[in-house]
Amino acid sequence: MPSYDANNIFAKILRGELPCHKVYEDERAFAFLDIMPRAPGHTLVLPKAPARNLLDADPGDLAHVMQAAQTIARAAIKAFNADGITVQQFNESAGGQVVFHLHVHVIPRKAGVPLKPPASVKEEPSVLSDQALKLAAALKA
Ligand code: 5GP
Repeated sequence: MPSYDANNIFAKILRGELPCHKVYEDERAFAFLDIMPRAPGHTLVLPKAPARNLLDADPGDLAHVMQAAQTIARAAIKAFNADGITVQQFNESAGGQVVFHLHVHVIPRKAGVPLKPPASVKEEPSVLSDQALKLAAALKA
């Protein structure tokens, strides 16, 4: 397996070198909205520590990221009046991974509404800002 590349786009977001619509942060995890959401509120949850994916991640970081994903999923149900949540996580190109810093997708779902195809439409920044505020507020409630 290739080694971790510190110049991947999520590493740059974590270092504050690139912008994001942040929704959550704690000592070990960071979460922001996907710029090409498959549904409104589509959030990516990452460990702060470098990890390419599930295969090389520190087990403690992995467990912590899943706990953060649960926290975000519960808030997303409220913020987006969702009927369910889809959680996805891809490993290596053959497994569907495109960005090589471990991340868990948390996608709010409405009954009967299919997911958009991956990376199909770049969302308007103003829409993402509103959604990030809604989700952050639900996380504080
Ligand atoms: P995966 O690696 O799990 O297949 O998917 C990577 C995800 O990152 C995709 O859903 C894609 O829309 C998202 N993505 C790619 N580049 C950026 C970016 O610069 N910012 C954000 N917020 N999301 C991104």
